[in-house]
Amino acid sequence: MRKLTVLFLLISTTISAQTDTKIYDIINTVSADRIKADITTLTNFGTRHTLSDTISNTRGIGAARRWIKSEFNKISSDCNNCLEVFYQKDFVKKGTNSRITKDVWVVNVVAIQKGTKYPNNYIVMSGDIDSRISDPNNYTDDAPGANDNASGMAGTIEAARVLSNYNFENSIIYVGLSGEEQGLFGGKGLATYAKEKNWNIVGVMNNDMIGNIKGVDGVIDNRTFRIFSEPVPPTETERQRKARRFYGGEVDGISRQLARYIYKTTKTYMPEMNPKMIYRLDRFGRGGHHRPFNDAGFAGIRIMEAHENYTQQHQDIRTENEIEYGDRLKFVNFDYAKKLTAVNAINLASIAAAPPSPKNVGIGGIVEASAKLQWDKVDGAKGYKIYWRDTTSPTWDHFKYVENTTEFTLDGIVLDNYFFGVSAVGKNGHESIVSFPSKIIR
Ligand SMILES: [Zn+2]
Repeated sequence: MRKLTVLFLLISTTISAQTDTKIYDIINTVSADRIKADITTLTNFGTRHTLSDTISNTRGIGAARRWIKSEFNKISSDCNNCLEVFYQKDFVKKGTNSRITKDVWVVNVVAIQKGTKYPNNYIVMSGDIDSRISDPNNYTDDAPGANDNASGMAGTIEAARVLSNYNFENSIIYVGLSGEEQGLFGGKGLATYAKEKNWNIVGVMNNDMIGNIKGVDGVIDNRTFRIFSEPVPPTETERQRKARRFYGGEVDGISRQLARYIYKTTKTYMPEMNPKMIYRLDRFGRGGHHRPFNDAGFAGIRIMEAHENYTQQHQDIRTENEIEYGDRLKFVNFDYAKKLTAVNAINLASIAAAPPSPKNVGIGGIVEASAKLQWDKVDGAKGYKIYWRDTTSPTWDHFKYVENTTEFTLDGIVLDNYFFGVSAVGKNGHESIVSFPSKIIR
């Protein structure tokens, strides 16, 4: 009898569990002080320009990357060597573009926390090592890059510190990328490396400028942040493009699903924050290091402050008309950087704890009063959530949870009026990124 009661309790808690207390512990462990210390250390390298000195131990990108690697190594030795830390580098020839004025090794610092069940599935958090001032090719003058992008780099190191205390079923990559300001070379290098190694990258969360709360327009806001995602992958085929005309999916590419996932996790666990999904690859006409991953066919988004200050980006350190130009340490809000780091950490943890997204999701129900969904069984899934939403809604607003099946008919839900998707849910309650249907059931 007692055995039965215990079993019943176990089942009921698993089913009713909507949130995971571990996630709150993760939020509380992220430290603004450690982020401040790391951003300070990074700015003290003077410049981290991709073409800057690599010999000195105190100045230039060489010193910076060695320090980042040593931090990852320290974190690893504190977790029984749970991180695999290495340099991933590519040689870029002088003249490759106008911002490569000499031959250079673009060196990324990678730390991998291997998953226990799906080691070849990777969720990535990235920041940038490199910095710049007004002239993109000036690699000698001071370029502190405190917000752009020591903030993203420090957040990535801090996420590794916090999450290395846990085991996850999927692998997590924490990476410092280089060559961003010279033409997104580091991201390109790692995306190519991932392809060669056949890594299944389920998502890249690129952090670029996560520490500024006072906009150039005077708005001060320490709760709102942006999630940039492109609508559909640039790698889609002509056939897929044509199919979208008849079946929809213009706002439902893999990067957009990742953005929705981050939006939802943030709303669930950090309801005081205001995530703002932006339906665009990046800022208007500007770029970031998630793009090369998108180019390679991987889901990737950019997490960023909501209010930028252009007098503090890519500027020579100077005072003009009483305006202090330059990306200086004193302009960074460490508490805000901590919040956005926590946003990353809880999403890395949730995705890394979840089963893989369902594959081959099919949809049917043309001229019927119901919608039918079908998908491949996901190894490790306890159940599935079938989502739908109004075609004009940015978020997955309705769902039906099902178990022990790989198909389901939503009676009374007319196919024509909604968009649909399916996620896989693990025993621990963590949920995969939603898969949008990729085929039609006749
Ligand atoms: Zn920049």
